[in-house]
Amino acid sequence: VHAWRGDDGYDWVKPPVVLGHEIVGEVVAVGEGVEAPRIGDRVVPVSILGCGDCPRCAAGNGPLCAKRTVIGLSHDGGLAEFVRVPAGEVVAVPLDMPSERAALTEPLSVALHAISRLPELRAGEVVGVCGPGPVGILVAWALHRRGVEVFLVGAARDRELRLAEAAVLGIDAFAGGDRDVPVANHWIEASGSEGGLNMAVEHTEPGGRVVIVAMYGTRPMIDLNTAVRHEVELIGSYASLPADYEQAVELLSTGGEIERHLVTVFPLDAAVEALESTANGGVVKAVVAP
Ligand SMILES: [Zn+2]
Repeated sequence: VHAWRGDDGYDWVKPPVVLGHEIVGEVVAVGEGVEAPRIGDRVVPVSILGCGDCPRCAAGNGPLCAKRTVIGLSHDGGLAEFVRVPAGEVVAVPLDMPSERAALTEPLSVALHAISRLPELRAGEVVGVCGPGPVGILVAWALHRRGVEVFLVGAARDRELRLAEAAVLGIDAFAGGDRDVPVANHWIEASGSEGGLNMAVEHTEPGGRVVIVAMYGTRPMIDLNTAVRHEVELIGSYASLPADYEQAVELLSTGGEIERHLVTVFPLDAAVEALESTANGGVVKAVVAP
């Protein structure tokens, strides 16, 4: 949606390019000499790849590589019947997992990566999540499933759909205006809004951490004085690593029919409608099926 809308920070994307970086698909052909995956396997491609040849890549941090490429942004991606991806950069998905659920692997991996950027949680610590988009809901869901006390805050317009679906998943979810926002030990900021970021900073227990996983359409102004006085750590979290994908597949295999609460399927020729519905909050997560 950010690239399609031409948000700040996406001017490096040069159309024409087929969008789509959260993909699940069946392998229908492999290159010469490729032993895995095999034809018929179901896989999710890792969406951001490093050059494989620099210190950051050597440290396993492909998404931080200066020469990283993003499928569906740097080159053609998944909003198509077929897509070509490097054989060594895919994660296997069980054959019996519904595609609507398997398509959540990439966003869930991003959520799990953000969670991995929290400090080790002590008993009784509470995590706030700001922004009930797909990543925010998946962060809250994954924390809730781990037994962490978590709440999810949205805006008034999120009440009917996004917050309601989160509540059905067992998450304590509410709109910011409906009750006082509690102070949490740590936050994960997934709203991409200036207001949400400041709410998180202001409602963090002194010494706590705000993990920022959102991207911002415009540059936010932050109340840094509060962050300084409270020694609140602001930590960025970008994309995810192969291990996060594997954990995501595991969680989706055992986590029930989460897609029923999050996913709306659009046909490929309605891909623009899928993007519009996502941008205006009409759906939680659009999945496009060729
Ligand atoms: Zn590199």
